[in-house]
Amino acid sequence: MKPAPFAYVRPASLEAALAALADDPGAKVLAGGQSLVPLLSMRLAAPGRLVDINALPDLAHVRSTADGVRVGALARHADVLADVDAARVQPLVALALANVAHPTIRNRGTTVGSIVHADAAAEMPAVLRLLGGSVDVASTRGRRTIAAEDLFAGPLESTLAHDEIAVEAFFPALAADQGVAFAEIARRHGDYALCGVAAVVTREGDRVTSARAGYLSVCDVPTVVDLTDAMTDGVTDASLATAGDTAVAGLEPADDIHATATYRAQLIRVLTAQVLRSAYDDAAARRTA
Ligand SMILES: Cc1cc2nc3c(=O)[nH]c(=O)nc-3n(C[C@H](O)[C@H](O)[C@H](O)COP(=O)(O)OP(=O)(O)OC[C@H]3O[C@@H](n4cnc5c(N)ncnc54)[C@H](O)[C@@H]3O)c2cc1C
Repeated sequence: MKPAPFAYVRPASLEAALAALADDPGAKVLAGGQSLVPLLSMRLAAPGRLVDINALPDLAHVRSTADGVRVGALARHADVLADVDAARVQPLVALALANVAHPTIRNRGTTVGSIVHADAAAEMPAVLRLLGGSVDVASTRGRRTIAAEDLFAGPLESTLAHDEIAVEAFFPALAADQGVAFAEIARRHGDYALCGVAAVVTREGDRVTSARAGYLSVCDVPTVVDLTDAMTDGVTDASLATAGDTAVAGLEPADDIHATATYRAQLIRVLTAQVLRSAYDDAAARRTA
């Protein structure tokens, strides 16, 4: 199948791109095209105009400070994955990105595009949500920052207005007493996961003071579950089993064409235990490094 006809513009400034979007309620942003182009080709989307942002200047950065990692709208997944400062400041970003699609897709697809595409099966929306990050967006009306908890409205639906461009995503830094981990199960490496879990564990000595996990491919939107109460006795087989049960109860997985609810619940239990233990060990390893 071929895409429905559309107009195509490739502005050279952010102002011109925002004007082109504001001008046409049926217009859509084109970034890496790794999600949008297949949708066009299958005629699941038929925008009247594509506003290609690839010629915009100064949006391909990956900038790390003590506060966190700032990723520009034209930074490709591969750029972010290869950035050593980003991996040091917030290691969960690279841990998750290594599971996003295949190298050719990571060379072109953008991390910001993946976030605002808001696929509940994608890794980076879940990571942004778990870390309490945000996205800066611009329009002809001005700029605003959307917290990750307010960004994901439903399946493939973000809270960006049609005339807004996401210019940057912000991933907060890992704190000194924290550890992180990521795990997922996919039929083949690089495919969308049947279930994925990211975790951040905060320790005080051997004690767990916070344990939170972010889930992809389970609910309609990336979802975070606080598992701290399950971990008050530390990391034991029993506490990890309780954490898994708590996650299943909070997420209520359902049947879909990829997996039954029972199978997905089992994945949640196994992966939750795995990432909590790894994140707990990771916090200790960072302390002694
Ligand atoms: C075979 C295959 C396997 C894949 N596997 C995975 C996977 O396992 N995990 C995963 O996370 N992803 C996967 N992807 C998707 C990939 O990560 C895409 O790169 C990503 O979803 C979208 O980024 P993009 O830059 O290509 O966006 P595009 O395809 O250009 O755009 C996607 C959507 O976001 C909007 N958009 C993009 N950028 C902006 C912006 N800056 N401001 C406002 N709106 C914007 C577009 O209008 C469009 O609606 C896969 C893709 C393919 C083709």
